[in-house]
Amino acid sequence: MIRFNKPYIFGQESEFVKKTIDDGTLAGMGVYTEQCQQFLNNRYGFENTFLTHSCTSALEMIAILLDIGVGDEVIVPSFTYGATANAFALRGATIVFADSNVDHPNVSIESIEKSITAKTKVIVAVHYGGVSCDMSALMALCKAHDILLVEDAAHSIDSFYQGKPLGSFGVCAAFSFHETKNITCGEGGVIVVNQRELVPRAEVIWENGTNKAMFRRGEIDRYSTVDIGSSFYPSELNAAFLYGQLLHLDMVQSARIALWDRYFLRLQKVCSEKNVELPQIPEFASHNAHVFYLVCNSKSQRDGLIAHLWSKKIQAVFHYSSLHSSEAYRSSHQRVNLVNADRFSECLVRLPLHLHLKEKDIDRVCDCIIDYLCAT
Ligand SMILES: *Cc1c(COP(=O)(O)O)cnc(C)c1O
Repeated sequence: MIRFNKPYIFGQESEFVKKTIDDGTLAGMGVYTEQCQQFLNNRYGFENTFLTHSCTSALEMIAILLDIGVGDEVIVPSFTYGATANAFALRGATIVFADSNVDHPNVSIESIEKSITAKTKVIVAVHYGGVSCDMSALMALCKAHDILLVEDAAHSIDSFYQGKPLGSFGVCAAFSFHETKNITCGEGGVIVVNQRELVPRAEVIWENGTNKAMFRRGEIDRYSTVDIGSSFYPSELNAAFLYGQLLHLDMVQSARIALWDRYFLRLQKVCSEKNVELPQIPEFASHNAHVFYLVCNSKSQRDGLIAHLWSKKIQAVFHYSSLHSSEAYRSSHQRVNLVNADRFSECLVRLPLHLHLKEKDIDRVCDCIIDYLCAT
């Protein structure tokens, strides 16, 4: 079986986890949490990062930090994971879904523009597959309408827009370290706070609304609950594991990019002959090979391809279903018609991509795809 995803373990993860066990420091905010944050800050020039137990919780923390509430509208792409919308819906915001581009799952700037009203408070950009959205256009739009930009950078560690790391454009950004992402600790995430004025409150929300951080720094002589918040920080066991992965980031990235490029090269000919779309990478984006996908001509061709690959013991999978027509959101989006998001929901297929795969595995997947496309 060629699995869709299998986390690659370097060995240092268990070494660091054992150290936290031996030291008896299991709760959050210990040395490994600090080291992970430092690593990300140094590598990407972030000034303020807070490790979280998922990207979902990072997004929830952002929604609290930006004071999102009833009456606020938040524009979210329809082609994304539920968490992107849920985090803001949980605060009482009205979710407004935007369409994807015709040729890329990333959100369409024109669709966002049409969705802006006087109540729009936030636009959430999702960089699908670690491929940057058009950040200049998005930032210009946000500036013109006085809207806050948030990056759901769940896919996007080590991805760039014109050489600048994703996660550094929004007022805040959220990354994921879920098992299916490039770097993992099982469940984990991080919030990047790019606006200095927001940092003191972020620190408080991160730690259940308390000012314990100030207390630890000796700035106050007792701490208390000063705001709302939650237990957003992960245990040191997770942070230790994560640090053991982060140290190998360069190796992860070069291996993934080599596999991604091999897929692209081997599938180019058949896809152009059969009008099947390969991932388009805009000039401004340098991506992290998070997802390799094809966009088929129809849902039936896509479902047939997935079934064919599974019959050959290859786990290919579809991806998101448009949120505007999901059970959770469709009743409030009855007249919404987002054709590009629907097309990616119905026609996109993701291929196996992880560090256990060898070149010959990629070649086998490609051969099976070529067989299927040429026979239909
Ligand atoms: C994976 C993912 C999330 C959620 O990440 P978790 O760490 O599992 O909470 C959010 N948004 C997008 C676009 C994702 O792909």
